[in-house]
Amino acid sequence: MDITRLTIHELTELLREGATTSIEITESVFKKIEAVEERVNAYITLTKDEAFKMAEKADKDIREGKAGALSGIPVAVKDNMCMKGVKTTCGSHILENFIPPYDATVVRKLKEAGAVITGKTNLDEFAMGSSTETSYFGVTRNPWDLERVPGGSSGGSAAAVASDECIAALGSDTGGSIRQPAAHCGVVGMKPTYGRISRYGLVAFASSLDQIGPITKDVEDCAIMMNGIAGYDANESTSVPEKVSDYRAFVSRDIEGWTVGIPKEYFIEGIDPEVLSSVNNAIKTMEALGAECREISLPHTEYCVAIYYIIAPSEASSNLARYDGVRYGFRQKGEEDLLDMYKTTRSSGFGAEVKRRIMIGTYALSSGYYDAYYKKASQVRMLLRNDFDEAFRTCDIILTPTTPTPAFTIGEKMDDPLQMYLSDIFTLSTNLAGVPGIVVPCGYTEGGLPIAVQFMASHFEEGKLIQAASAFEKNAGFARRRPEL
Ligand code: GLN
Repeated sequence: MDITRLTIHELTELLREGATTSIEITESVFKKIEAVEERVNAYITLTKDEAFKMAEKADKDIREGKAGALSGIPVAVKDNMCMKGVKTTCGSHILENFIPPYDATVVRKLKEAGAVITGKTNLDEFAMGSSTETSYFGVTRNPWDLERVPGGSSGGSAAAVASDECIAALGSDTGGSIRQPAAHCGVVGMKPTYGRISRYGLVAFASSLDQIGPITKDVEDCAIMMNGIAGYDANESTSVPEKVSDYRAFVSRDIEGWTVGIPKEYFIEGIDPEVLSSVNNAIKTMEALGAECREISLPHTEYCVAIYYIIAPSEASSNLARYDGVRYGFRQKGEEDLLDMYKTTRSSGFGAEVKRRIMIGTYALSSGYYDAYYKKASQVRMLLRNDFDEAFRTCDIILTPTTPTPAFTIGEKMDDPLQMYLSDIFTLSTNLAGVPGIVVPCGYTEGGLPIAVQFMASHFEEGKLIQAASAFEKNAGFARRRPEL
């Protein structure tokens, strides 16, 4: 048996029975990494030594009856979350050698729950992108087809889970960066409600949109990871002191009598026919499970891409001002004066996409334009949020496609930013509205590429998402497929 193929809940069972040890699991995962990483490139940094120390401690805790919810389980972390003493690069030249002196809250929580951290995964530079191609550390390849992108920006985390180079992973999602790569890699990904999970120690991209979440092999594992990382954090001013449910309790409950909203704005021209037919089949599965699927409208959907590409770059331009060669990471040497040092450090430290965002954002925030762009976008964002509030008055959840197409080929969209931006057309809205979303495999193309359905729920209703996604997963018949590498 290849134990790297198992889920958190299965491995936890084996650990509990004494049928395996965390050391054994960790060894298997690092063997898998050795075998496939050269082809996949899911990681920027491996933390093998730390991992074995954590595994040893987990085994001891398990023996002494002190096991945590993730004891002994190998988990990978996207490389925009700080881990004390380990490089945190954000996929950027400018942070190539940055070693944070502290743990992000989520990393601390993983450690406290007993997880074994295997390393830091690849991402689009500063999480800006949908393909992992803008990483300074090279593209990650899709384990289902090595000529294709894994999606992005959490492409490394999604590819690592899909290729069994870890058992579960953390990603971050500003406009789709957990869900789009999870969809392209045939795994489960959740973006929780804004404020549900602490962003302390997550390197900021767009602070009003960023949220951390799990990428896992199945829905039950997603619930287990959420139990481990969710909750209020006094270190983070936007984290919300809302009660955290036991998400695992929502697994395997039925959805009989639920109302599922199908927003007509998400079924537009240009969706790949295989994606469309798989998502239509997902609707039929929900009906077969006793839910009533009904057409709804989210009338401001057409503005999502426009609003996002004002708000996200504006916030990014402000957040990224701190990388000037003085306090963090890379500094261009040999410059005459401070201004020159700033200029050359930033010019050579950032890649093309990050510079594009900084320029768009600086423009949108500049005096005289602020009202016309950022302020206007924020107002339309409220209308979009109202659309969701309205919809959730009558619907338990909303069902949509996750992406308009399956994973595209490497290089295909790199010269066409607009096409790249459109790959998040169905995922941006939840970040703008702050609501949670989950994606689950709902089919495969004839060529064998995964397709995912997305469920959205009202603020802090992650439990409902787990319930719907787990009922769907158990009945749709696409769970647990793995690529052959
Ligand atoms: N692809 C989107 C962007 O480039 C979303 C990225 C993300 O969610 N981090 O901004």
